[in-house]
Amino acid sequence: MVHIEIVQGDITEQDVDAIVNAANSSLLGGSGVDGAIHDRGGYTILEECRRIRAERYPNGLPTGKAVATGAGALPARWVIHTVGPIYARSPAPARELASCHVESLRIADDLGARTVAFPAISTGIYGYPLHEAAPIALRAVRESTTSVELVRFVLFDEAALRAFTSAE
Ligand code: ADP
Repeated sequence: MVHIEIVQGDITEQDVDAIVNAANSSLLGGSGVDGAIHDRGGYTILEECRRIRAERYPNGLPTGKAVATGAGALPARWVIHTVGPIYARSPAPARELASCHVESLRIADDLGARTVAFPAISTGIYGYPLHEAAPIALRAVRESTTSVELVRFVLFDEAALRAFTSAE
């Protein structure tokens, strides 16, 4: 069974096999977690994202799906990019948010990653209320069939940390 850790911190600093990026469907970078990963990871991540976009997802990566790239200058080995639902626009935000976690772990399994760090997907610009997102994220990971041994939720601020620890 996967072991779950909940910590406050910066996802770009995590020394795990793979970190998950709260990307947008363009895969071409953005703000928040996405911006931090591309800023600190360097240009090679963006280059790989561009190639994946051109070759596999010309219309953008669909919500709830995930793809992997290298992690450039970051301590992790891979970045798994997933697109969370935009809360106010999604017809099924809970299902899509759960899918981000399930699909990211599936990609982690394909890579052979054993330790994976997730941010609080969709709870920034995409507007998902933390107290709703936290139990969905935790349940999706807990109920996943995966070879990943450790999932660390890395929460940026105290409000997010509280939402996840109280939902555990
Ligand atoms: P989304 O577009 O999916 O909402 P955001 O990147 O805007 O993604 O925000 C997702 C969550 O990640 C928010 O709770 C935000 O506070 C948090 N966050 C922003 N930067 C970082 C970081 N460097 N490490 C971990 N979490 C971060």
